[in-house]
Amino acid sequence: MDFLKNIQLVGKMIFGAGSFDRLDGILTEKRSDSCMVFLVDDFFQGRDLADRIPVRNQDRVLFVNVDVEPKTTVVDDLRDRILQLNGRAPDGVIGIGGGSVMDYAKAVAVMLTNPGPSSKYQGLNLAKNASVYHVGIPTLSGTGAEVSTTAVLTGPEKKLGIKGEFTPFHQIVLDPQLIDDVPRNQWFYTGMDSYIHNIESLTGHYANTLGNAMARQSLHLCREVFSNGDPTDLASNEKLMVASLLGGLSLGFSEVGACHAFSYGLSFVLGTRHGIANCIAFNQLGDYYPEGVAEFKQLVARLGIDIPAGVTKGLSEAQMDKMIDTTLALEHMWRHALGEGWKDRITRDKVREIYQRM
Ligand code: NAD
Ligand code: ZN
Repeated sequence: MDFLKNIQLVGKMIFGAGSFDRLDGILTEKRSDSCMVFLVDDFFQGRDLADRIPVRNQDRVLFVNVDVEPKTTVVDDLRDRILQLNGRAPDGVIGIGGGSVMDYAKAVAVMLTNPGPSSKYQGLNLAKNASVYHVGIPTLSGTGAEVSTTAVLTGPEKKLGIKGEFTPFHQIVLDPQLIDDVPRNQWFYTGMDSYIHNIESLTGHYANTLGNAMARQSLHLCREVFSNGDPTDLASNEKLMVASLLGGLSLGFSEVGACHAFSYGLSFVLGTRHGIANCIAFNQLGDYYPEGVAEFKQLVARLGIDIPAGVTKGLSEAQMDKMIDTTLALEHMWRHALGEGWKDRITRDKVREIYQRM
């Protein structure tokens, strides 16, 4: 009964405006004779938030670039660099950024105690040693990465998470003031990840009362946020932060579906960022999620958001084949979306035809 999921949740969480200023006290309890490593989105280099990080004596602040989605090779480099700088594992790893930096922090924390390349651990419960203490501090809301059991990585062969009981954060700090300056398109793309998580969680064979309750509340909050349409409003940002959390939790007990299967193909072959790849894919999935897609289109039109079109035009046959392979390899997503007989219901030709519309 693989649909009965027994998942590791995050350890502690603090929520509310100003909670970032509690970080120093939170970390003090976890310090021994090593150091803390802060992995910070390089967007914040030279900005106020970087000056507010509670850095003590031997701590390290490493700015991480996320112009491309997290890669296994970068995780391995970060792990090696930390061990080289510090001589041993740190007391903790703190990720400050969007889904990309949070996934780096989760993956690095696991890889500091598990030998070999991180690509070896892309899959379910492949890491055998407990990770080092790690903390997630989102500066974008929507992915649910702050609460999920996976650290999504692109490796040499696939885009797949290091998923398992050692991946989730021991602590998350949810401060809505950290997301009050996000550019409008990014706010929508990442926020819509949560909306799509909920629609997919609710619409599929693994849907259940627990996951549904969280997805419905998250969907309700997403609607409030995107009908208000203001990324700089604190009350709205509080709601988006909670929507992201509940959407991510809901998926823990259910599963993503067709949109993520297509989105992963776009990201793997074209490098399209997750939030925007989801929007490009969801826009064409009215056959699978009629109500959700209709509402999505209304929001896009009303908020004046750009959704790229024609992204698969000019793909070589080999690229299109790779994209289709990537999509159809995500069996757990299809099993949720279409049921056990999914292979009869989604063919290579159908996947190609949908990609050609994007
Ligand atoms: P992101 O972390 O990739 O960041 C997108 C852009 O926003 C970057 O340029 C970043 O520098 C910038 N940014 C971050 N915070 C900002 C702020 N406060 N103000 C202005 N700009 C800011 O975006 P994302 O959508 O949060 O994350 C996408 C990633 O999350 C993908 O790699 C995806 O695979 C992953 N993901 C993981 C999970 C999970 O469960 N682990 C779930 C969904 C997505
Ligand atoms: Zn997602």
